[in-house]
Amino acid sequence: MAGVSNKGNLMFNTRGDIQAQNLKHEWIHLTQYQKHNRFNKNIDDIQGMMEWEVALVQDILYFVEIKGKADEVAHHWAAVGSGEELEPYREEYFTWLRKMTNNGTSYPHNIDDISFMDFSKIFGATSREYPASSAYIYGTPNYRPYALEELFRQANENCK
Ligand SMILES: [Zn+2]
Repeated sequence: MAGVSNKGNLMFNTRGDIQAQNLKHEWIHLTQYQKHNRFNKNIDDIQGMMEWEVALVQDILYFVEIKGKADEVAHHWAAVGSGEELEPYREEYFTWLRKMTNNGTSYPHNIDDISFMDFSKIFGATSREYPASSAYIYGTPNYRPYALEELFRQANENCK
């Protein structure tokens, strides 16, 4: 387990939790906390949307890494899973990823809000770790992917 304290410190429960995947996850949360002003207000009501956004960032990174050839790899997509659970969403999800990454050749410059909302609900319905519940609410209309856009703005600027 890992997390971010109210003071903005990264925390890991055990030494074994200090690993790249957890670090990446919490770094994205740090950007979200900054963008959504976590340290000045209670943002428990957007916890679900933040977890969805983390999942989407990880899928975009992988999608670009494999140059958009999603049909050629077996992969557990953070947002929509793998195997049978992926099937109902596969075409629509990959079409969206292709569109926002210019066929897997670049990081996105902006994110379609409607798809972002729609897929947040799918994430909530299919996620085992962050299922839609009173703790995890999805489709929050005023939650925009500011952190995602900021992360990829920096990537587009600095990772050429
Ligand atoms: Zn998280």
